[in-house]
Amino acid sequence: MPTTPESHLLKHRAELQSGLLRWYRRNRRPLPWRLDPSVYRTVVSEFMLQQTQVKTVLPYFERWQAKFPDFESLASACEDDVLKQWEGLGYYSRARNLHRLAKAIVAKPVLPDAAKDWRELPGVGPYTAAAITSIAFGKLEACVDGNVVRILARLTADATHHGDGAAAAKYFTPLASLLLSPSSPGDHNQAMMELGATVCHRRDPLCRCCPLAQWCAATKSGSTEDFPKLQPKEIEHRSVTRAWVVKDGALLLHRSSPRARRLANLHELPTATHLEIDEQSLDARDLLARRKRGITRYLITESIYRISLSEQLRLGDSLVWISFGDLQSIALSGPHRRWITEILAMQAADKRNKILPSK
Ligand code: SF4
Repeated sequence: MPTTPESHLLKHRAELQSGLLRWYRRNRRPLPWRLDPSVYRTVVSEFMLQQTQVKTVLPYFERWQAKFPDFESLASACEDDVLKQWEGLGYYSRARNLHRLAKAIVAKPVLPDAAKDWRELPGVGPYTAAAITSIAFGKLEACVDGNVVRILARLTADATHHGDGAAAAKYFTPLASLLLSPSSPGDHNQAMMELGATVCHRRDPLCRCCPLAQWCAATKSGSTEDFPKLQPKEIEHRSVTRAWVVKDGALLLHRSSPRARRLANLHELPTATHLEIDEQSLDARDLLARRKRGITRYLITESIYRISLSEQLRLGDSLVWISFGDLQSIALSGPHRRWITEILAMQAADKRNKILPSK
């Protein structure tokens, strides 16, 4: 039978596992959930790290631990407090799921240790279940995320095309499972994630520093960036018009319904649609800020206009006046807090310029 890159890897799997683990134990970043591990800290870190980079997560993780140090304190917190602690990390369904998961865990007589049981808990997919059970309970479950897909596709120079990351993860899971170290599955999984994050970069991977280079088909053929073969995401452009409405020292905000899928209970600047405003009637001189942001495959241009509302307008229940002094204590979505802070700073600077006589 001809030798394929995959059979070559499997033939050398014991060497590969020990080389990878040696590299990891020498080079791993001293992250708080690694220095002082517990099931709870592993779970929180895995939720925070979904779609978010380690350097962004670090300050949130420390603040979260100070406020909610265990499943019990998180389970007994109110959702507003939970969202407030998550504010700025985005993808708020993760915070709500983590909150629901804590409630489900404290209601159980014992902590589950099998991936299939964790997968039944809110917000836990195959990757998170494998990460939690391998790291916290030493279970033989392989984690396959974008980093691991990239490494495995390059090690094998596998030219199979995948529609998206989830399809690629499913495709590479059997190989990841075969390569998993039976003695240290948690460290092995973390080593693969660490290697993907710090060495096997999407662009210009640092193959000279890679403990797996001797088994890597893509680096041997000088084609590392050709793998994995993923369908490029189609970016869709959208525009949203938002209103800056102030009355008696308070700002008008929209509070999403507790049942909303993405932003439940979060505050944002209201859109023209929330206020039933005809966007065509807006005056360009009232444009306070225009900002772009990306959410999944959407590139959204947000335009914020100063708007005076008619006194007769009846505001729906989802629109609330929040005094400027209380803005700090409510849960605002991260970009909206940034925009509000920027607009207030611009307005304060304008005011100062008007008061100061020009030289
Ligand atoms: S040798 Fe290079 S391309 Fe191959 S796994 Fe290592 S860093 Fe990635």
